[in-house]
Amino acid sequence: MYAVGHMAWGYIFGRLSGKGLKTKTITPLLFAVSTLPDVDLFLKPYGIVHRGPLHAPFTLLCFSLPFLMVYQRRALPYIVSVFQHILFGDFIIASSMLLWPFSSRFYGLRFRLGGSLDVTLELVGFVLSLWLLFRLGDARQVFSSEKWNVAMVFCGAVIFLSVFYGIGIPVPLVLVPLHFVFLVLAAVSGFWGLYGVIFRRNK
Ligand SMILES: [Zn+2]
Repeated sequence: MYAVGHMAWGYIFGRLSGKGLKTKTITPLLFAVSTLPDVDLFLKPYGIVHRGPLHAPFTLLCFSLPFLMVYQRRALPYIVSVFQHILFGDFIIASSMLLWPFSSRFYGLRFRLGGSLDVTLELVGFVLSLWLLFRLGDARQVFSSEKWNVAMVFCGAVIFLSVFYGIGIPVPLVLVPLHFVFLVLAAVSGFWGLYGVIFRRNK
């Protein structure tokens, strides 16, 4: 999946799990953490393969444990958002080293990135995430000077890089408008958050 798909589904799965667990979630953080496994795109020069060890449940669990110990149930929606990246998005579209460090084999359904199933899933995720954002009242949180919205600057940077620098595989034309909408949303929210932090207008 591309940035939009990972972020949209990360928010959907994370937000709904938070609802199920009756725990509050910070929307910009759900969006941001959903893309974290793809940090490996920048680690190629250090010998780390894309969808390799950083896409393994073992690695993500090791990173999640300290947060689980400190924040307990409240950390779960974010962990769900990170794990859906490898167990939903990258499992259906492509494949990852799911059993690393025990095996370096790639597991997944290997549907083509940018193919019809991928485009459909990204579109459904995009529409559903925007609907939930307004339906569950999270849009109010995202479009405010709340400090956590600064995390949307990171989301905006990820989208910008994936569209304009083609990290991984260039985004197909049909998905560019979706990335553009998320980019505008991330920029507005992120800069509003920054404004709040700088001028201390947090509630
Ligand atoms: Zn990935």
